[in-house]
Amino acid sequence: MNKLSNSIVQLNFKKIVRTYIIFAVIAVIAVAGGVGFVFRDSLSYAWQYSKFSEAAKSMKEEDIRKEADKLAESSENLVDVLLLNGKNEVLYSSNKSEFGSGKFSLSPVEDMNSYLANSIDENVVFKFVKGEEFLLSSVFDFNFEKIQKDYEDAAFYEENHSEKTLYMLTYLVSGNGEYKVYIISNPYTTEGGESALSVAAAVGVLIIMIYWVLLALWVYQNSMKAKLKPFFWGTVVLITNIAGLLVYLMYKNGNNVCPACGASQEKNHQFCTNCGSQIEHRCKNCGMYVSKNDSFCSGCGEKQAR
Ligand SMILES: [Zn+2]
Ligand SMILES: [Zn+2]
Repeated sequence: MNKLSNSIVQLNFKKIVRTYIIFAVIAVIAVAGGVGFVFRDSLSYAWQYSKFSEAAKSMKEEDIRKEADKLAESSENLVDVLLLNGKNEVLYSSNKSEFGSGKFSLSPVEDMNSYLANSIDENVVFKFVKGEEFLLSSVFDFNFEKIQKDYEDAAFYEENHSEKTLYMLTYLVSGNGEYKVYIISNPYTTEGGESALSVAAAVGVLIIMIYWVLLALWVYQNSMKAKLKPFFWGTVVLITNIAGLLVYLMYKNGNNVCPACGASQEKNHQFCTNCGSQIEHRCKNCGMYVSKNDSFCSGCGEKQAR
């Protein structure tokens, strides 16, 4: 037995698994907390947005105002939340922005349907995004530079195109279609968001890797105790993980275990090839191999002396 197998055999897996679980739980909580902290603005906004869009379906004007204020407060990047009637008249503006009074109508920029010009400020162009996309963009980094470039590429023939401010816009309609809600947001990138996600991914990979190696080590130790080619089984499980583990357990359970030393023995062995103890004997009645623990013969049903 070389040094490596020696140390693997001495591993106390109960302790190791307990330590591993504690480590994994603490790591997951710490990472989730860290990511949550970095994305706190985005998360509070996403949460409020989903609540708002769910509730907007059946809300009265007064309730919409209240929820619109909560939504506007949830993120520093919201330019405004507007409540409009069917004639595009602004009934309510949460942030009292320049779009917050009078008539606010939108029209496509040239032939680009996802870019909208408005009736209030000709220096502002809105990038229309679907609700889900809008929501995701607040949590994950939205590639706004690309949007801006797309817009400039598409509108290159337009004069002064690059001087226009680009906002993101999405809308909701109230349950009976009486009200429209426009949500206008400043595109932004969460500071440190990318590194936070990378750290989270790295910790996740680490946790899985440790589990992966531990499983292979356990199989190595277990098969060594059962005298079952530990290097072979350890390697199989190291490569195939769960699949290899299942094959190993099936193989092992198909064999007998020597009651004296724990070595795995083929079904028809009468004596352990490792320690020489008797494992099975033959039935006196029919000559069939009978396991030492069996009370009756599987071939003829004869009661076995124990
Ligand atoms: Zn034995
Ligand atoms: Zn028998």
